[in-house]
Amino acid sequence: MANSWSNWSGFVKAAPKLVATPADAGELVDLVRSAPGPLRVVGAGHSFTPLVQTDGTIVSLEKIEGLVGHEAAANRARVRAGTRLGALTRILQDIGQGLPNMGDIDRQAIGGALGTATHGSGTTLGAYHTQLETVQLVDGRGTLREFSRASDRDMIHATGVALGAFGVLTEVAMNNIAAYRLRRRKWVLPVGDMLRDFETMMAAHRSAEFYYIPFAGYVQFIASDLSDKPTTARPTEDDEEGLATLRKLRTILRWLPSLRRALIKGAVKKVPSEDYVQDWLNVYASDRRTKFNEMEYHLPYEEGPKALAEIIALTEKHFPEVYFPMEVRSVAPDEFWLSPFHKRLTCSIAIHHDAANDPLPFMRAAEPIFRRYGGRPHWGKMHSLKASDFRKLYPRWDDAMAVRRDIDPENRFVSPYMAGLFGIQQ
Ligand SMILES: Cc1cc2nc3c(=O)[nH]c(=O)nc-3n(C[C@H](O)[C@H](O)[C@H](O)COP(=O)(O)OP(=O)(O)OC[C@H]3O[C@@H](n4cnc5c(N)ncnc54)[C@H](O)[C@@H]3O)c2cc1C
Repeated sequence: MANSWSNWSGFVKAAPKLVATPADAGELVDLVRSAPGPLRVVGAGHSFTPLVQTDGTIVSLEKIEGLVGHEAAANRARVRAGTRLGALTRILQDIGQGLPNMGDIDRQAIGGALGTATHGSGTTLGAYHTQLETVQLVDGRGTLREFSRASDRDMIHATGVALGAFGVLTEVAMNNIAAYRLRRRKWVLPVGDMLRDFETMMAAHRSAEFYYIPFAGYVQFIASDLSDKPTTARPTEDDEEGLATLRKLRTILRWLPSLRRALIKGAVKKVPSEDYVQDWLNVYASDRRTKFNEMEYHLPYEEGPKALAEIIALTEKHFPEVYFPMEVRSVAPDEFWLSPFHKRLTCSIAIHHDAANDPLPFMRAAEPIFRRYGGRPHWGKMHSLKASDFRKLYPRWDDAMAVRRDIDPENRFVSPYMAGLFGIQQ
């Protein structure tokens, strides 16, 4: 009987012949050599696209986790690729190190976060893969290989963001920074002011992001800066409560947009501002209990406000069912070949749709706007692009595909979905 698997939101399903949890790299090598293909690795299953879907084998590295070793002077740590980010933060704090930045949650495995170029926000802060010093992987023939930035920079740039198709990462060494504290502040402001001052406000803080609350006309701005002050209590999260209110107003007032807008605006203006100091690992991540599906496009930085204004207009005119806030972040440029931040400062815009409802009409209507502004999709979030589109968006696309063929000449890691992404005939 086939196994059943689904991703975090429940939108992507699979019926693989085998779900395997190898205990070490030796067992993983055996699986890559002999398990039914296509073989897809899973981290925590938090991607919204069918990256992990296969009717062959899903391999989880949940047992291949934890710290391998660290170099205190260089703030570098080597960890197994199945380590979850939450566990990683505690491991690093214990050895006096910190991740320079993080995204919204800490549930992902480090292998999975690297696989889709998972990121946080900050005009000078790169995504997780920019921390890579060394990559150890099992290639498509079942051979353990290792590359390091010092001796083979190109291979780090080729395999750092690789969608589980350039081998299975087993261990990575990451360049961290000394453990630190952040002062985090949150406040609300009118969306018009935010769009006008976007570039200065985003660049004025080490990490800045904002959420546009649909039908409110207001954004919630979040800024984090280094601090050497004593820690203060992080306020209890009210995100889920806020979402429940937005959903209720959506349901009751869906066809009364002016009343909905007035009530949301009133509620948003009353949200108290927030200001606290905490160790880095207690600041970035939140719980996300209400399930959603998501699309996020990475745009040239300066196009962000124009694209966001169009997405807001589209949503408020045609999609009254939407109530999830839209998230806007910035990401520093990097050199990785399949990184959506390749050689450009980025403004990332994410839209969300309640997992209980079909997200596709909204996503299909929004995607042309993102694409018109030169957007590259987040690899783990909904999009409809194929190899011919990616070749135009990624200057090193053909180089990356050549490395992929070398690592996986028999297409062990190529499912039908991956074949479409990479333009591989099956
Ligand atoms: C609630 C929620 C919040 C999120 N917040 C953010 C955010 O703030 N920023 C952001 O950028 N994204 C965010 N995401 C998206 C998420 O970070 C990415 O989709 C990420 O890839 C998921 O990690 P995962 O461990 O679940 O990997 P999976 O989804 O399981 O896998 C992702 C990819 O990595 C590959 N992979 C996994 N492990 C390995 C390995 N050991 N070797 C090689 N390849 C591997 C898989 O094959 C697949 O291609 C969020 C998603 C959710 C559901």
